[in-house]
Amino acid sequence: MSFFSYMIDEFPPMDFYYPDISKYDQEDKHPEVIRDLNWIEEEEEKPRNEKALLCRQCLLTITNRSELIEVEGAYEHTFANPQGVVFQIGCFGSVKGCGHVGPATDEWSWFKGFRWQIALCGMCLTHLGWYYTSKYMNSFHGLILDRLIDSS
Ligand SMILES: [Zn+2]
Repeated sequence: MSFFSYMIDEFPPMDFYYPDISKYDQEDKHPEVIRDLNWIEEEEEKPRNEKALLCRQCLLTITNRSELIEVEGAYEHTFANPQGVVFQIGCFGSVKGCGHVGPATDEWSWFKGFRWQIALCGMCLTHLGWYYTSKYMNSFHGLILDRLIDSS
């Protein structure tokens, strides 16, 4: 059994995670919808920091600190790739300055149920992180924090 198939057995796709709330209208108090709305309200209470984050290499505006979102319980994560290189990444809900390359794959995905593509700076093509998409959950970018700088 390869390591990859081990990973699949260990982490089956999380079909039941966040339901598509657009399927229900506002009046429909489906328990799953109520849980999701509560979650959104909690999310709004976190301190907002409107500082733009730029590509460290070329200073293109990539995203904003206010776009930081919680994924699997944290805004930031530290992971190692198969080569052992460690990355500290932040999860951003909306990113404007990145392009995505390569087919979406779930091989070695750091987030259960998500496929990823490489995310590059739209201007200088520096590798800034990964774009995560899922059939059942909102997409987001995991961006390598030391490749971004705050706008002054
Ligand atoms: Zn750049």
